[in-house]
Amino acid sequence: MLRVFTDFDGPIIDVSQRYYRVYQYCLEQTRLPEQQINILTYPEFWQLKRDRVSEVKIGEMSGLTSEQAQAFSQLRKKTVHTHPYFEYDTLVPGAVDALSKLVFTGVDIATMTMRRTSELDFALQKYDLGQFFPLNRRFCLSDDYVKTRDVDDKPLLMGRSLAQLAPAVDTWMVGDTEADIAAAKTHNIKVIAVESGIRDRAQLESFQPDFIVPNLLSAVELIFSYSTVSY
Ligand SMILES: [Mg+2]
Repeated sequence: MLRVFTDFDGPIIDVSQRYYRVYQYCLEQTRLPEQQINILTYPEFWQLKRDRVSEVKIGEMSGLTSEQAQAFSQLRKKTVHTHPYFEYDTLVPGAVDALSKLVFTGVDIATMTMRRTSELDFALQKYDLGQFFPLNRRFCLSDDYVKTRDVDDKPLLMGRSLAQLAPAVDTWMVGDTEADIAAAKTHNIKVIAVESGIRDRAQLESFQPDFIVPNLLSAVELIFSYSTVSY
């Protein structure tokens, strides 16, 4: 059996508009009425995120004082995973085709995400993605999970999911951040990084995934060409 774990945000869902709306909101909330600020454009903002520039630094680059930038960063953290902002998420082009291809070919697919159950359910329902992931193939954080850091939490989540699943002959992980790469490497799973998410190629290279490809569809093609399981 061939098994593919895919991260959710990055390979399947594009969160960039949500993050940008939250950025604009937090900037507006933090600035003083008369204060001159420099609102970054969406491409400028997203490139900074892809380059792993901190929220505090992004606040400062937007014209906030360092004290304000701290408050901006705190507010952003509280706001980014809330409604109504989840409404701004969009599907990554080709992601549904990629998932269909995997399921059609009989690959065992599971999603592994730092979303909480209710946040994952919202997107699965909105984009009709539940069909690809039966309940026992959704690995996420419970609604009351106390998050630490994704690079620590995700390897733990991967460990819990591997303990629940029957062993596969060949297993792959697809993700868009250092947390996905760390999770896979911790458990000796081959990992493909995609450039459709929140890290650019240079950042991904520094974490040394096995492969870097543009998106989930190219990852699926690569898996079929390399897998030891034949179809
Ligand atoms: Mg991700």
